[in-house]
Amino acid sequence: MERLQKVMAHAGVASRRRCEELITAGRVKVNGRIVKELGMKVDPETDQIEVDGRPLRREQKRTFLFYKPLRVITSMYDPQGRKTIADFFRDIKERVYPVGRLDYDTEGLLLVTNDGTLANHLLHPRYEVEKVYIATVQGKPSHSKLEFLRHGVELEDGLTAPAKVRLLESDEKSSRLELVIHEGRNRQVRRMCAAIGHPVEKLIRTRIGFLGINGLKRGEYRELKPSEIQRLK
Ligand code: URA
Repeated sequence: MERLQKVMAHAGVASRRRCEELITAGRVKVNGRIVKELGMKVDPETDQIEVDGRPLRREQKRTFLFYKPLRVITSMYDPQGRKTIADFFRDIKERVYPVGRLDYDTEGLLLVTNDGTLANHLLHPRYEVEKVYIATVQGKPSHSKLEFLRHGVELEDGLTAPAKVRLLESDEKSSRLELVIHEGRNRQVRRMCAAIGHPVEKLIRTRIGFLGINGLKRGEYRELKPSEIQRLK
């Protein structure tokens, strides 16, 4: 939910200040009713907003696949002034935001969209899509440790769902694991690996559902095709 004048301004009606004037002048309707007081919150997806009897132009839905580099906050604003997703999407005029999050010290794929329905769908545990991570961990996990990950490990917020795990390579110091999970808990992969005694040194998300990282460099994005968005739903 967002303030009416903000939604109007983003839809290109006028500046926020001018939109406030339009509201107080009684020229704006929400779901068929004139709204004169400022501060009303609306849902730009579902509320019908009219200015002088004309419906607000709806923002075009756009969805991007973004390769988040390390040391970027998964948010559109950081009060501490660190780099955020917004720094990479300055040329996109629609109000896009990240779906889910990757840690500051994780790189890899992130969906960025202004399609609230799609975002809710992707974040809903029932539909959570498979995500693939390549984790470089300390040491070499034994077969039985990997079995823990496969069956589910007990974390402070409960047992994890079974993960698909492959040991890709290892030397005396570290190993590379491929983990496929469909949950999206906070720092989940790091906590899972720490729970089996093999802390993560480096983490990359290389796939979200059928969308792979190939062809994207760090900091780059590509817009999804309608057919790809359809497949995500
Ligand atoms: N799991 C983590 O630990 N970190 C991420 O950024 C994503 C998944």
